[in-house]
Amino acid sequence: MHKKMISLLLAITLSSILLAGCGSTGQPTGAAESVPDTAGAGAEPEEGEAENVVVDPALENEVKVTSEEPYVMSGDQTYFIEDKELNNGYKMPVLGLGTYALTVEEAENSVYHALKDGYRLIDTARAYNNEEGVGRGIQRAIEEGLVTREEIFITTKVWDTDFGNAGSAFEDSLARLGLDYVDLVLLHHVPRPNDEEAYHELEEKVEEGKIRSLGLSNIYLDNDTFDRMYEAAEIKPVLVQNENHPFFQNTEFQEYIGQYGLFIESWYPLGGRGFTQNYFNDETLLGIAQAHDKTVAQILLRWHVQAGYITIPGSSNPDHIAENYDIFNFELSEEEMQTIKEMDTGHGNFNLRQ
Ligand code: NAD
Repeated sequence: MHKKMISLLLAITLSSILLAGCGSTGQPTGAAESVPDTAGAGAEPEEGEAENVVVDPALENEVKVTSEEPYVMSGDQTYFIEDKELNNGYKMPVLGLGTYALTVEEAENSVYHALKDGYRLIDTARAYNNEEGVGRGIQRAIEEGLVTREEIFITTKVWDTDFGNAGSAFEDSLARLGLDYVDLVLLHHVPRPNDEEAYHELEEKVEEGKIRSLGLSNIYLDNDTFDRMYEAAEIKPVLVQNENHPFFQNTEFQEYIGQYGLFIESWYPLGGRGFTQNYFNDETLLGIAQAHDKTVAQILLRWHVQAGYITIPGSSNPDHIAENYDIFNFELSEEEMQTIKEMDTGHGNFNLRQ
């Protein structure tokens, strides 16, 4: 038997013991643009239930998901995928679908395909104008029995012009999504006028059971803003969603907020719309991709996950959506991780670090 399979089975056995009694994704164990932000940056057209998972190599590429276990992909190399445990006890998948620049119809179809492929994390925002489509895609997947609401983790964001009425803006998002609650709601940009007030209004929605976790977005080399928001928060944020990719790494900030148990969720994980070719034609990355018989997109996403980030690549192309999720059957070596770490230029594609 393949040695990774043995490790997997051991991991499953151990985790079955450790996770017995834990909730599903999004459940606490024991108890994260001026649309313009990124829109301006250049929207480009884009080209069952399982028991205690015994993996059958015949089920290659099939994803097994249970409400009680982290995800497992089957195949001749199988890895155990840990969700992140957030600082409030809820669990969050490390890889999801981003929906920026998708139309309502594209969002519906992309979300549906993603959920069908095994994704359990979906990222949208009021500013993307596609929450209705995201909601419809979720509904289709639930109606077809592909997922339950409890198994999935949905994120939306409150745009800064709504910071004066964040509570009602969130209620509008909730209605467009057609959901009873949202797993994570982010203030789309901080610092902004009224950001603390907006955060407090969202805290009320947590109390009402309509939001599970809160987060922040777009904080770059600005620990003061993070500290101010963190101290003002009665319900602490669980993550910060930032532009983050090998050419623009959030390493120091990851360490800083990590002290408080927060994660960084990477947006523009592939460099972002209009910029992906900078990566896809990079000789170093092409070499690593060739060595693993993977695409550069998969190498990038694997890097995010192995570097401790949560990530949400965007696509409306079903083939790319499937490809982007197929990163759990290989590992980057320490040397490859180091090579990618050294690619940091300090310059983002949208956010330029000064
Ligand atoms: P991305 O880095 O995910 O790149 C998306 C681009 O890559 C698209 O053009 C897509 O067609 C292409 N692509 C995707 N998979 C591919 C593959 N396998 N092969 C070839 N091309 C592929 O950029 P993004 O979508 O802008 O960012 C990811 C997500 O982050 C967004 O969808 C959105 O949900 C979120 N986001 C948040 C903020 C924020 O301010 N918080 C800003 C921008 C994006």
